Amino acid sequence: MRAMQSPHASNQPRVVLLGTGGTIAGSGTSGAAVGAGSAAYQSAVVTAQDLIAGVPGLSALAELQAEQIFQIDSADFTDEHLLRLARRVAALCARADVDAVVITHGTDTMEETAYFLHLTVPSGKPIVLTGAMRPGTALAADGPANLLHAVAVAAHPSSAGRGVLVVMNEEIHSGRDVAKAHSLRMDAFASPHGALGAVVEGAPRWYRRVERAHGKTSEFDIDRIDALPLVGLVASHGNMRVEIYDSWAALGARAIVHAGFGGGTVPDYLKAPLAGLRARGVLLVRCSRTGDGPVVRNASIDDDAHGWVVADDQNAPRARLLAALALSRSSDPAAVQAVFLRY
Ligand code: ASP
Repeated sequence: MRAMQSPHASNQPRVVLLGTGGTIAGSGTSGAAVGAGSAAYQSAVVTAQDLIAGVPGLSALAELQAEQIFQIDSADFTDEHLLRLARRVAALCARADVDAVVITHGTDTMEETAYFLHLTVPSGKPIVLTGAMRPGTALAADGPANLLHAVAVAAHPSSAGRGVLVVMNEEIHSGRDVAKAHSLRMDAFASPHGALGAVVEGAPRWYRRVERAHGKTSEFDIDRIDALPLVGLVASHGNMRVEIYDSWAALGARAIVHAGFGGGTVPDYLKAPLAGLRARGVLLVRCSRTGDGPVVRNASIDDDAHGWVVADDQNAPRARLLAALALSRSSDPAAVQAVFLRY
């Protein structure tokens, strides 16, 4: 394998492994059956350095340096964690002696972190997230192979310029699209438009590229973002209550993502109360609670008249992040709408 930047002692790509915790760093009692020991364990206990030591094949792929930025379950990620991680990844990518970054992360919120980095780190160097559905102590643990594949993808020159990648279960997904779609299975990750590629015989094989803006073509540079505006999220169900939206508004939310039924619909009994949000400076962003497929502007609802925005094909958690980034630049609904169609 070729070095991706200036020549150095080992001539291997230099990859920084940032450990954040999650099940890949988890430990529990081994079960006797395949899969046993996969649900009850303590997450975020094994260090990034020990994860590297546990996969000897890594040294053949890259010169690795471990850094423990957090040691948490990914459910505990806040916007502050996202901002800190993005700043660190951007700083590492700016260094001439770093060719790529691999981030080990809990699977529960990996899609949010991957998307945030995809939008805010202005670099074309490979940035790859991976994790595990089973702790290292479970039979058939998936962490070691996922880590090996993540480093193989990060170290490969063909991975540059594709945006942030998620490597899980031998598949390579885009941080724009991927979502955790199963609570337990090893093939828990899926992208509505399909994976970008696969890890075949230890190397990436690509099948498609992401069309939308990211990385160097994104207007959201982490070095110019101090904090994220508050954006709420409300999932649709029968018998909804407007007070939930009012609570977000009272908390100071600048937008509320409404994960509506089907095409992002709003029940008739909520239309009039929600119309009042605009006057309070709160933008409603309509997405679909199905998690797949676009929401079409001005189709079943007159978004122009309400001053509302549609999230295109973004799922609710990612729509929250994109709305926050858009609002960090402008609160004009037309500008926010343009962002949802560009990213
Ligand atoms: N609860 C864990 C986490 O997201 C689950 C996992 O990593 O698979 O940190």
